[in-house]
Amino acid sequence: MNSSLVVYNSLKGDKEVFKSILPNNVGMYVCGPTVYSNVHLGNCRTFISFDLIFRYLLHLGYKVRYVRNITDAGHLENDADDGEDRISKKARLESIEPMEVVQRYTLDFRNTMSKFNTLPPSIEPTATGHIVEQIELIKKIIKQGYAYEINGSVYFDVLKFNEKIPYGKLSGRNIEELIHNTRSLGGQSDKINPQDFALWKKAEPEHIMRWPSPWSDGFPGWHLECTAMSQKYLGSQFDIHGGGMDLKFPHHECEIAQAESIHKKSPVNYWFHANMLTLNGKKMAKSTGNSILPDQMFSGENKIFKKSFSPMVVRFFMLQAHYRSILDISEIALEASKKGFDKLIDGMQTLETLVPSSVTSKFDLIAWKEKCYSAMNDDFNSPLLIAHLFDAIKHINAVANNKQEINSKDLKELKQIMHDLFNDVLGLKSVKKNLNTSVNIELHGILNLLSEIRDKARNSKDFETSDLIRDSLSKLNIQINDTREGSSFKIK
Ligand SMILES: [Zn+2]
Repeated sequence: MNSSLVVYNSLKGDKEVFKSILPNNVGMYVCGPTVYSNVHLGNCRTFISFDLIFRYLLHLGYKVRYVRNITDAGHLENDADDGEDRISKKARLESIEPMEVVQRYTLDFRNTMSKFNTLPPSIEPTATGHIVEQIELIKKIIKQGYAYEINGSVYFDVLKFNEKIPYGKLSGRNIEELIHNTRSLGGQSDKINPQDFALWKKAEPEHIMRWPSPWSDGFPGWHLECTAMSQKYLGSQFDIHGGGMDLKFPHHECEIAQAESIHKKSPVNYWFHANMLTLNGKKMAKSTGNSILPDQMFSGENKIFKKSFSPMVVRFFMLQAHYRSILDISEIALEASKKGFDKLIDGMQTLETLVPSSVTSKFDLIAWKEKCYSAMNDDFNSPLLIAHLFDAIKHINAVANNKQEINSKDLKELKQIMHDLFNDVLGLKSVKKNLNTSVNIELHGILNLLSEIRDKARNSKDFETSDLIRDSLSKLNIQINDTREGSSFKIK
């Protein structure tokens, strides 16, 4: 397996060589959406970033088990374990069942992600489908002495945990700082210390999403589901855990504490965090009107942008930034990406029409390929990879304009690499263009087939058929060129 892959590990705050626990296998867990509203663009960026990582690991030949959960219970409005459950609140406001909310927004999420051409995860478990596992986990944490029960709720004892195992490793916070920065609880909570977090909450009478447990009829704390599901499907120690940057603290820190309190070892070898997306230089927020839904962007029905942008252009735009950098989305930036994407697509289509020559190419294909893979091996540097793809497009256009040449071996290899990187790794798809403006991919497929049939006819000296194909295509302004390696076509 490719040992030259270097990744940025948030836990170490540095890049290191990626080495999976089991050779050729990778276990990856990514925190999925809380399905109480339409998925927003910032979330889409996170999942597109992890799609790039998933795709590249697959491309390198790893067998990847990619687990991404659906949070359908337990995520309260406030990170400090108070406020209403987000899904229950939406159900109350719309007078529908919580599971109707879950169904509606799970479908929206999957539908939007498929428009962005993200691959589905291997397992997509839900919090409500794993209540039993979460209760078992709480029992184990209590047994280890790191959780306490008060009035039917169970809390993780952060101070006690920190006496044995340091808390705050991922976010770089120490316990004194945390105590200093956590607001006092007033009379609202049963917690002993404000930095403790809920593992189980007793449900108030009006709380509709509730399950029986040894402590009360209630619901699990939000941080617990990811520990329960990642350990169930990937084991007590696995390779990669990812999520948005905003989940680093407290969510991921709490996940580490829960797992370490039981297994006394780090649950995850590599932590990856995708950075946020801003809109016109400001944080996206519904309350300020500075927000846009993916579908509004695709249809153009929004007050932010004058034009509409296709999912592929938006995906390409996102991949033009490194996943760990903050990215600002604006109409000007999207316009520039659209131009770049069109140029790339045109180049990919021109590539299909190139006629090989017997002269050795000046374009160093091996060095170029090396550069492409070095970019991706350096912490999934998609913007650099895209820049290298444009170098290839320059060469492709030069060959098409008879300013440079390419031999058939290099042409075959260039086609394969471009396909691998464009389609498989970056997850981009050619957008079909109208026949009157350009030539679409299907037509190229048919022309390739006709060239092959003609080559066969010529080889078996059936010149009647080969001439018929050549003359008929010529009438359509498609020129067949015969070379030693076979025939190819060119659209005039
Ligand atoms: Zn999570």
